[in-house]
Amino acid sequence: MKNDIQNIVILTGAGLSAESGIPTFRSKNGISYWESTDNAGVPFFHRVEDVCTPEALARNPALVHRFYDERRTTLATVSPNPAHEALAALDAAWPGELLIVTQNVDDLHERAGAKRLIHMHGELQSALCAACGKAVPWTQALPPGTVCMGCGQPRLRPDIVFFGEMPYQMDAIDEAVRHADLFVSIGTSGAVYPAAGFVQTARHVGARTLELNLDPSAGSIYFEDSRLGPASQLVPQLVRELLG
Ligand code: NAD
Repeated sequence: MKNDIQNIVILTGAGLSAESGIPTFRSKNGISYWESTDNAGVPFFHRVEDVCTPEALARNPALVHRFYDERRTTLATVSPNPAHEALAALDAAWPGELLIVTQNVDDLHERAGAKRLIHMHGELQSALCAACGKAVPWTQALPPGTVCMGCGQPRLRPDIVFFGEMPYQMDAIDEAVRHADLFVSIGTSGAVYPAAGFVQTARHVGARTLELNLDPSAGSIYFEDSRLGPASQLVPQLVRELLG
């Protein structure tokens, strides 16, 4: 695996954090749900369209803000798992270029120690002003109408890239993928674009492509190599191979 590889891009998704106790999306009849639990611990589901779109935020800001408040609160109860830790160790030790691009909005990569990291879909612990565009660190509840300290408008919202919005730092990501020798996708369903298309760019420039996932994903056919299993086992094994 190590021969001739200098530049690595690693795309991570919700499956990486699943073993830390953060639920992934579930799909039924073509509709995606995000699983939650009520105060009594009983599971229920949020439709993606109700909590992850600009239209949902305009229609029912209280629901959308509460949904992300709950996810932000959950962060205190979870910890990085061996997959996050292995990627942080790779980041620290890899002498060539390396970029971890995560679709996850949790902070488990950075809590494990990863530094070369882009949160392309935003972060739970950040608030974004819909009026002036300034983002600020945010660890508390974020009620609708919270005033932005920068411009004074009551327009702070969760700093999450909703479906239909442009992911962050696409130029930097594209540049890294175009120079990759190895592109690895971990724990992502391959259903959410533009992230799902990175593998095709990587192949176009001649990078090796590897998918690690619990089940074959929608994009599996685009990868040269696929390994199936839990990220907490597959990722440390891959990092051992890369670091020798
Ligand atoms: P997804 O929920 O659509 O797919 C998760 C994938 O992970 C599936 O293919 C599943 O087979 C795989 N998986 C589940 N458990 C695994 C494990 N233990 N080891 C390896 N793979 C495992 O997630 P996605 O593709 O990342 O897209 C969902 C969107 O939802 C993203 O944009 C993300 O922002 C958001 N999301 C984020 C979080 C988070 O921050 N932790 C959680 C859920 C959803």
